[in-house]
Amino acid sequence: MSDTPTPTGMPAETEADLTGVAARVAPKPEVEKIGGRKLKPSTLMMGHGYDPSLSEGSLKPPIFLTSTFVFPNAAAGKRHFEGVTGKRPGGAEGLVYSRFNGPNQEILEDRLGVWEEAEDALAFSSGMSAIATLFLAMVKPGDTIVHSGPLYAATETLIGRVLGKFGVKWLDFPAGATREEIDAVMTEAATGNVALIYLESPANPTNALVDVEAVAASRDAIFGDEKPPIAIDNTFLGPLWFQPLKHGADIVVYSLTKYVGGHSDLVAGGVLGTKAHINTIRTMRNTIGTITDPNTAWMLLRSLETLELRMSRAGENAAKVCAYLRHHPKVERVGYLGFLADEPGAERQADIYRRHCTGGGSTFSLYLKGGERESFAFLDALKIAKLAVSLGGTETLASHPAGMTHLSVPDARKQALGITDNLVRISIGVEDADDLIADFTQALEAI
Ligand SMILES: *Cc1c(COP(=O)(O)O)cnc(C)c1O
Repeated sequence: MSDTPTPTGMPAETEADLTGVAARVAPKPEVEKIGGRKLKPSTLMMGHGYDPSLSEGSLKPPIFLTSTFVFPNAAAGKRHFEGVTGKRPGGAEGLVYSRFNGPNQEILEDRLGVWEEAEDALAFSSGMSAIATLFLAMVKPGDTIVHSGPLYAATETLIGRVLGKFGVKWLDFPAGATREEIDAVMTEAATGNVALIYLESPANPTNALVDVEAVAASRDAIFGDEKPPIAIDNTFLGPLWFQPLKHGADIVVYSLTKYVGGHSDLVAGGVLGTKAHINTIRTMRNTIGTITDPNTAWMLLRSLETLELRMSRAGENAAKVCAYLRHHPKVERVGYLGFLADEPGAERQADIYRRHCTGGGSTFSLYLKGGERESFAFLDALKIAKLAVSLGGTETLASHPAGMTHLSVPDARKQALGITDNLVRISIGVEDADDLIADFTQALEAI
């Protein structure tokens, strides 16, 4: 019996010995290289981490709706729990219970990691649950988080008001800070225990880029052997236009709700990084259950197949739309990363852009001539672009930060961040660029 081939072509015994769960044995070696050529993420998104022969030949992974997984024998069950509880390093070798993981989530995590060549990745129920799980895994009372500012509003709330209640302290530097300014904040923070350095680049809505290489150099110089990890929210430019792990970051955080999901039809988050950091964060996720569900994971697998197509098109569209808007008589200024190179006074930011980014993205700030009245008239006149917050979807969105996402920010801070009444935030989608230009033209005329 033992040499009767299983669907995977391996004797049944070997299969159970390897993982304890037959369905998780990958029978066919996966092709990641052809003739020394390393396959690109856009190619790997169609098959990486999934073998159809394990699911009745189904070309696409089925959605595995189950809360728990059957062990082949008691010893295998015990081995899994040794992995889950950390008694044995490396995590569970098979699937155990759906708060810990599932087939759809594992395929998603394998594919997410591919984009930034991360050692490992985790999927979460939202961007915020990813960030909250990261923080809970990394900090304890009395610790300090050093962060760039401004951050996504809910992240600032989480650090200042939620973790603050548990005795966690924070110190921040402005997103565009120089090495000297970063050093000054790090030196002050180093008098306490810095558990985490947390960045977000570009900052919203200022679009200021953080010099991740300078932050890493500063951290290395000031902290010596006991280095706190550097985590960065890469939602606005990743994974296509910026890959922070290649510039000194240890952990990358995503709201997959935005460009990665890309169709404005789901909420999810991701964390990528070294195996050691991901293991720490996974243990916390296993405890509190912030994993994404199988259905959302499946939708994200579909999204990843077109990620490069969508982001490339959105990026090209944004370049065309911004080139048009920039010289319009009713426009004061366009805050688009692609223009940094020829903006007077933006030499430092342009230098960071040149070193870190491969594209300007498709989310930018449009400063109209006038104030709230002009902004509202423009927004209300749009026919193609939808009036909604969020970004990174196939459709173009426009919103008014001062009156919407940043309404509760105190006036002085709004002023400092450049969140003025004439600011409109735009996220360009994958529509026809000339149609979008026609829409913006008529909306500007309507002011
Ligand atoms: C949207 C967003 C988040 C939060 O993500 P959710 O998926 O809404 O929880 C975090 N950071 C940035 C930069 C975002 O744009």
